Formats: sequence, C-alpha cells, structure tokens
Amino acid sequence: MIIFSAVKLKELFIKERDYPWQKPNSCPRCNSCRLWGHGFAPAIFDGFIRALLLKLYRCPDCGCVVRLRPKGYFKRFQASVATIRSSIACKAAANRWLAGVERTRQCHWFRFLCKRIKVCLTDTWCHGIVAGFDYLLQLGQIPVSRAI
Ligand SMILES: [Zn+2]
Repeated sequence: MIIFSAVKLKELFIKERDYPWQKPNSCPRCNSCRLWGHGFAPAIFDGFIRALLLKLYRCPDCGCVVRLRPKGYFKRFQASVATIRSSIACKAAANRWLAGVERTRQCHWFRFLCKRIKVCLTDTWCHGIVAGFDYLLQLGQIPVSRAI
C-alpha cells in the first residue's frame, strides 16, 4: 500500500534514516491507529547519485505494509511528474526531447502516452497530447505507464 507524502528529497538525501517522516494517522487498509516502523526501502530518483531511503510502516492488526512515497512522483518512476509532463510538452510543441533526460525514457513516456490516449480516450480525442496527459492524470491514471 502506498501513501503519497510531502517529502523534501534534498533533506531526505542528507538526513537519510534521520529524516522526520510524517507518520500516517491510521492504517489505510483496516484503519487501525497502530502503525509500527518497518525499516526502509531504497528508491532511485533523478538528480540523486544514490538511492533514497523511503520509510515503511507495518500495521500489526492486519499485516499491511505501508510505503511512503514523495508527492509529485508516480510510483515506479524516477523522474518527477513535472519533468515527464515537460518532456511530453516539448516533444508535442517542438518535436524534440528535453535536454538532460535520457532519450530512451522520454521516448517510452511519449509512446506509452499515445497508446494510452488511443485506448482510454479513443481515436476521437482531439485536444492534443498534453491535454490527454492532464486528462488521464485527473482520472487517477499514470498517463505514461506501459500497463493498461
Ligand atoms: Zn491494518
């Protein structure tokens, strides 16, 4: 179970295990108010030379493991939502990729987004690719995810 939390990545990078995580008030599955620390899981984010440690909690009542993730990032994505959106916008407007971000990844984002727009919003979608991104995001989807 993932809970998105306001995390200052730079501070987390420096403080590592001493970062002051905001503990969730209750278990997202069973609502128990007992959540215990359950160690850390490393995760890679763009702009940091080593993995950042994301805090885990475990609910002793239902066994659910809760992983805190920074807001502004999709799960399993290293780049921020803002960076991914800029990449899509740049490609759509100027037909080029963003500088400083690996081309293959940007290419994947774009391709998966096109596919998802086709499948979820159908061929009749006529508002453009960036609007498609925003619309899918609003629906709670990861617009650039491979799995549909
Ligand atoms: Zn629980």
